Amino acid sequence: MIQVKGKTSMAVSRLSLPQLAPRAGAPAASHARAPDCSELPPPAPDHVRAARRMIDSHGRVIRDLRLSITDRCNFRCVYCMDPGVRFMERERLLSTHEIIRVARVAASLGVRKVRLTGGEPTLHPELTEIIGGIRAATGVEIAMITNASCLSRAALREWRRAGLERITISIDSMRPERFARLTRSTCTPADVLDGVSMCLDEGLTPLKLNAVLIRGFNDDEAPMLAGLARRFGIEMRFIEYMPLDSGRAWDSSKWVSADETRRAIEARHSLIACGDDEPSSTARTYRFADLPLDASARVGFIAPVSSPFCGACSRLRLTADGKVRPCLFSTREWNLRALLRDEAAGGDEIANFLIDATWTKQAGHGIASPAFVQPERPMSAIGG
Ligand code: SAM
Ligand code: SF4
Repeated sequence: MIQVKGKTSMAVSRLSLPQLAPRAGAPAASHARAPDCSELPPPAPDHVRAARRMIDSHGRVIRDLRLSITDRCNFRCVYCMDPGVRFMERERLLSTHEIIRVARVAASLGVRKVRLTGGEPTLHPELTEIIGGIRAATGVEIAMITNASCLSRAALREWRRAGLERITISIDSMRPERFARLTRSTCTPADVLDGVSMCLDEGLTPLKLNAVLIRGFNDDEAPMLAGLARRFGIEMRFIEYMPLDSGRAWDSSKWVSADETRRAIEARHSLIACGDDEPSSTARTYRFADLPLDASARVGFIAPVSSPFCGACSRLRLTADGKVRPCLFSTREWNLRALLRDEAAGGDEIANFLIDATWTKQAGHGIASPAFVQPERPMSAIGG
């Protein structure tokens, strides 16, 4: 069933989520093991190619490109990356030139926003060149998502000058000891909050924060994390934990629904649905009842598991090794890197490839279906 957010919502109590605890002997998902497909997508119908837009066979139009620029990360978040994760060989990763070229072609096909992600995008040694190159080649909005561990005022200024407009920062716990266990890093919540202040000072706004809650780990922090929205006058978003961790430890008992999170926050702060979310937006947003109507503090809930928003999805993903993934949960991906490295291939071939790959976009991810298969690639090798 395709569910359009806000139109079809599945009661959480009716969800029958698969248990995806690792099978005995089952290998953990790894970046190094990501399928090295050499397939070209089948050609889209002629009238679709002729439209020079990325439209899928369910009528959805791609406006938002998620560009993963690296699979490397300095964190090992428990819901994302296993400590023993192996990264892809550097030659397999797209070059700065290749990343910019894809962005240019995608913009010519109607993409309006590019989000740089990873892995941790701030670890990319040529991040400024990537931002500047996309800015010079396109008029799209350029956003980035980061764990905020490598931010400095000088870097933020440089990226902003190059063309970066918006940043989203991930923060899953305010408790130093728990943050360390969750991210398996030496970074602290205070470091992340410094990053938040710096982004606001440098005008990288509207700034958003993301958190993933895991039952029994950090789910008691929902009200405290929501308080960050009030403290900084920004949007704090809660993303439901998805079966995309490289350790394949996800199971429904660790999952906390957006409704449960909202109820926990409402025990401390009354919330009112904003009701003005774009249909293609991933989040349902709420404002604080005790703050003025135009206050910028908001809480957002991204509920891909309990209330999938596939029906209005406008996103396409390119992995750091050049594979086009029409859906976060695609089990099939298309190898654009081979075409990018074929000297004979021009912009038209790349455009047709993107149009054809989009045409194959699946109707929905089906996480709640018993037939659901966790993709080979973990989130960090796809780009969230
Ligand atoms: N390293 C950057 C960061 O953490 O913000 C960018 C990449 S990270 C893969 C992008 C987003 O995906 C983060 O907000 C992270 O919390 C989210 N994410 C990673 N694994 C997830 C999972 N299994 N379920 C839900 N969200 C996940
Ligand atoms: Fe790294 Fe982001 Fe994954 Fe955490 S969520 S391990 S910071 S890529």
